[in-house]
Amino acid sequence: MQAKPQLSGLPSYKPGKPIEEVKKEFGLSKVIKLASNENPFGASPKAAEAIRQAASETAIYPDGYAAFLREKVASKLGVAKNQLVFGNGSDEVIQFLCRAFLSPDTNTVTADPTFSQYKLNATIEGAEVREVPSIDGVHDLDAMLEAIDEKTRIIWVCNPNNPSGTYVNQVAFESFIERVPKHVLVVSDEAYYEYVTAEDYPETLPLLEKYENLMILRTFSKAYGLAALRVGFGVASPKLISLLDPIRPPFNNTTFAHLAAAAALEDEQFITECVAKNTRGLEQFVAFCEKHNLYYYPSQTNFVLIDFKCPGNELFDYLLRRGFIVRSGEALGFPTCVRITIGSEEQNDELFGILEGFLAEKSVQQG
Ligand SMILES: *Cc1c(COP(=O)(O)O)cnc(C)c1O
Repeated sequence: MQAKPQLSGLPSYKPGKPIEEVKKEFGLSKVIKLASNENPFGASPKAAEAIRQAASETAIYPDGYAAFLREKVASKLGVAKNQLVFGNGSDEVIQFLCRAFLSPDTNTVTADPTFSQYKLNATIEGAEVREVPSIDGVHDLDAMLEAIDEKTRIIWVCNPNNPSGTYVNQVAFESFIERVPKHVLVVSDEAYYEYVTAEDYPETLPLLEKYENLMILRTFSKAYGLAALRVGFGVASPKLISLLDPIRPPFNNTTFAHLAAAAALEDEQFITECVAKNTRGLEQFVAFCEKHNLYYYPSQTNFVLIDFKCPGNELFDYLLRRGFIVRSGEALGFPTCVRITIGSEEQNDELFGILEGFLAEKSVQQG
């Protein structure tokens, strides 16, 4: 057997530990997962109801075109139906983009640190990955532009950025895309779009008319609370979408995912309430960090990256034993940080109590 050489030594994705596993391992009856930026308030009850009603419809393949969901998303966003491509999570759309544009004689430009899937999929396609260091967690768009050459095919803007939670504003994004050469696709990954409160966050949909080389990614996995169902989508020019359509596996979303996502999309009140609760939770985190003099990255998302000035894995283990799963910054490019998903008010308070215990132990150790 001879696989692509770029696959050798490629590690598999290490997800946050599953709740049940942690319960068993540490003999805990309650475990709270604040590791993968899932919605702590679940999803609109209308989503589960839609699945329940369709529960027996298992024998027939789903509608590969996702006509039902497509119609709803198109009208909600005010775009044409042929401007959408649905993926099994937006992760899969990232995969389509890499398959379509990247090969061994090309390169792609990303920020560093940023969401891991851009580099992974680009590497699998054999492309060179040009990682441009961020400044205080924020994409250095000028330096990213400078990294472009005639072999560049995709440039990724994770906005807000995972794992830092920081964002690029409208003026910065527009001046950036204006300067990106037309042979380069700009991907604006907006997985946390619903959570953003900054007024100068870019509204990218109107830019699609002007830029045929723009792809916007959104997902139902975060604020909509449907991570288990795997639905995300890309919005772009019809020309770009028609390029991706043949790559998409014919039945890549389940019928249940289509129905639940469509129902969740209509429950605007649920999203409004979750976003308001998240904003208050973020304020709790900011107050906690300020009280304890901890550096945190300003977040426009439902997670906060906090610098505890100790190995991230150490705090990760400490919290795990006490029933909280978070993400160590060590695997995310911020070795002295942990990334914590904002939970419910009670979950946050409980977490802060444990973190205070950790900080007290640390200060005793340091004398
Ligand atoms: C969570 C996340 C995604 C992937 O979401 P899916 O569940 O695959 O839709 C994409 N981009 C970023 C930045 C994310 O944080």
